[in-house]
Amino acid sequence: MTRTRLVAGNWKMHGGRAANAALLDAIVRGAGGAKGAECAVCVPYPYLQQASERLAGTSVALGAQNLSEHREGAYTGEVSAAMLAEFGCRYVIVGHSERRQLFRESDEQVAAKFAAARAGGLTPILCVGETLEEREAGRTEEVVGRQLDAVLKVGPFSEAVLAYEPVWAIGTGRNATPEQARAVHAFLRKRLAAETRILYGGSVKPANAAGLFAMPDIDGGLIGGASLVAEDFMAILHAAAGSKEVTR
Ligand code: PEP
Repeated sequence: MTRTRLVAGNWKMHGGRAANAALLDAIVRGAGGAKGAECAVCVPYPYLQQASERLAGTSVALGAQNLSEHREGAYTGEVSAAMLAEFGCRYVIVGHSERRQLFRESDEQVAAKFAAARAGGLTPILCVGETLEEREAGRTEEVVGRQLDAVLKVGPFSEAVLAYEPVWAIGTGRNATPEQARAVHAFLRKRLAAETRILYGGSVKPANAAGLFAMPDIDGGLIGGASLVAEDFMAILHAAAGSKEVTR
C-alpha cells in the first residue's frame, strides 16, 4: 500500500497581490524539483483567481480554507463548493481549529461542510485536534475520535485527507514530537482506509519536518506560518519528497 505524501500550505488571512505573485512563482519553481510529494496551497478567497491562473498547468494544486455547507441561496458572505470548483480548487480545508474555536463551528457543521465539499467534487482536508487542556486531561483520543466520527457518520471518507493538528501546536512554535504525532495518527488510522492520507499540522518547520515525516502514518503536512516563506515551505516539501512514498 503506497500513499503519496502531500504538503499543503494554509495561508490563513495573509497575502496581497504582489507578495502572492512572488510566493507562487517560487513555489512553482521549487515544486517542480520535488517529484516524490504533492504540493498544494490554500489561499484566501479573493486570491483564488490569481493563484488559479499562476498554478494552471503546474504540479501545484489549489485549495481554499473554508466553504459553506449550503449549495446556494441567501447566505450573505458565504462561498459554495461549486464556486470553489469553478476557480480550479482541488482541495478545501474543513474544520480548521481556528474555525471551530473563533467561529464556533460545531462537529455537525463541519460534517455538513465536508459533505458539501464532496458533493461539489472537492477533496476536503478535514482538521481534527485537541486543546492543551484536553491533552493534559488524557482526552486526546476521545476528542479527535469524536471529531472524525461526526464526519464518518455522514458518509464514507473515501479520498478525503485528514489532518491531525493539535490546537496547542498551531502557530505557537511548539510542535508535537514525532512520537506524540505518530501515536495519534496510529489511533486515527484504525478508523480509515489504508490509502487515506493523514497529515500532521502544527508548527512544522524545515528543522522538524523530516523527523515528523519519517514516522509511519504521517503522510505529509498542513503548514501555516512556514507556508508564507517560500524557502521554508519548499524545504518542508523536499523533506516530504525525499522520503517519497510510504509502504505498509
Ligand atoms: C495551520 O494553520 O493549519 C497550521 C498548522 O499553522 P502553523 O504551521 O503556523 O502552526
